[in-house]
Amino acid sequence: MQQARYIDAHCHIQNAADSSAAIADAVSRGVCGWVCNATCPDDWATVTELGRVCPSVRTCIGVHPWYITRAGDHWGPRMRQILASDIHIMVGEIGLDTHHPDMDAQMHAFGAQLDIAYEFRRGAHIHCVGAWNVILDTFHARALRHMPPAVVMHAYTGSANITDKLAGEYGAYFSFSPMVMDTRHRRMRDAVRHVPINRILVESDSDNPSVVPDVVAAVAEIRGIPPTDMANIIYDNTHRILR
Ligand SMILES: [Zn+2]
Repeated sequence: MQQARYIDAHCHIQNAADSSAAIADAVSRGVCGWVCNATCPDDWATVTELGRVCPSVRTCIGVHPWYITRAGDHWGPRMRQILASDIHIMVGEIGLDTHHPDMDAQMHAFGAQLDIAYEFRRGAHIHCVGAWNVILDTFHARALRHMPPAVVMHAYTGSANITDKLAGEYGAYFSFSPMVMDTRHRRMRDAVRHVPINRILVESDSDNPSVVPDVVAAVAEIRGIPPTDMANIIYDNTHRILR
């Protein structure tokens, strides 16, 4: 039987002490692709270089809501320049997080980066903590014609109601992190039960992508689907957000 293949839909392998070793370790477990999210202009060059030397690494550049202040005000032109240089580069990690300060600045940067993702027709990888209704309002205000071609909600824990709106109105994808393996994480596990099967992705959300097959196994168990079948479904889902 063919070994299952996996793609890590949201990782930060730029933070690994030895990113080549982290990738090799994951390859030995069947992981064959990585969507590597930058978090601040400080790491854009590293993440872009990773994508250049390793074609299985897909680069995303963005300003994470935790690092808005560090990013300063002048990252927009450089972001545009990098996106213009390579059609495969996506936008991420961007988003909103009410556990962190500067919500006005977060909202401004989030909106600006959605604009850029739309302008360049690139997928956007989104972090959201405690701001689901604000995200929905933001999407609603943009209307569909101003949305990026794909939106991925990473480490997803939204309610059934939020899921229905994100999936139904905006075609969102939902990525589940290793937290899903912890049975105490009810919100994420409930979200796994509710999201459309053709929108499920999985991620390490770290510098250790070798954990991804374990995340798939947990999702498969929750959905009552054999792990290899679930792996194939998720693999195909992930390909739809890449190009
Ligand atoms: Zn992340």
